[in-house]
Amino acid sequence: MSQEIRPSPTVEDYLGIIYTLARDNEPVIGRKLAEWMEVSPPTVTATIQRMVRDGWVTMAPDKTIHLTDAGRRAAASLVRRHMLTELLLARVLNVPWSRVHEEADLLEHNLSPETAARVAELLEHTNVCPHGNPLPGQESSVSDLIPLLEASPGQTYRLARVHEEIERHGDLMDYFEQHGLVPGVQLEFVQVLPANETVTVVVDGRDVALGLAVARCLWVQKI
Ligand SMILES: [Zn+2]
Repeated sequence: MSQEIRPSPTVEDYLGIIYTLARDNEPVIGRKLAEWMEVSPPTVTATIQRMVRDGWVTMAPDKTIHLTDAGRRAAASLVRRHMLTELLLARVLNVPWSRVHEEADLLEHNLSPETAARVAELLEHTNVCPHGNPLPGQESSVSDLIPLLEASPGQTYRLARVHEEIERHGDLMDYFEQHGLVPGVQLEFVQVLPANETVTVVVDGRDVALGLAVARCLWVQKI
């Protein structure tokens, strides 16, 4: 492809999710995309077929989905625009942390690469988004973080990263924000209760209970 064609907003959304799963070495399969996109599996199948036709992805014999070079470039561009938009909303426009992901979802598709570059110039320290997830090419900036579930009881940590998988759950992000559980905050890791499937942390003197599935999406840094 000599001239880069901009994918549609829907295709961009798919590309962004595929990029994120591939970044984390997760197999990219239709069921996972249906979950993330909150659409039915037949809808995913139809969209993926169009994306294969248009050269954004390929489908392997085992049904895993892979980005082509053009798909990877378009996906990285979308993820970068999404994260820069989040940073702009959070740092310049003071949009509440719990809202920036949703708001960025609305704006990211219309941000030109030129404007994205200006945002990056305006803001400093743009290696991670307000949730602590790395911008494309900045993956090494999160490589030394510790999964919360591997933290030691009684130790104090700094919350560093809330994975993309849960960013889109607005109610959950509200809960996080209400309990002060946003990247940068200090927390004490208390315990994992496997029987109860919960994890307890202390933020600002208050116990915050998290389900195991949610806790799996958090990373911390030792203080
Ligand atoms: Zn984010």
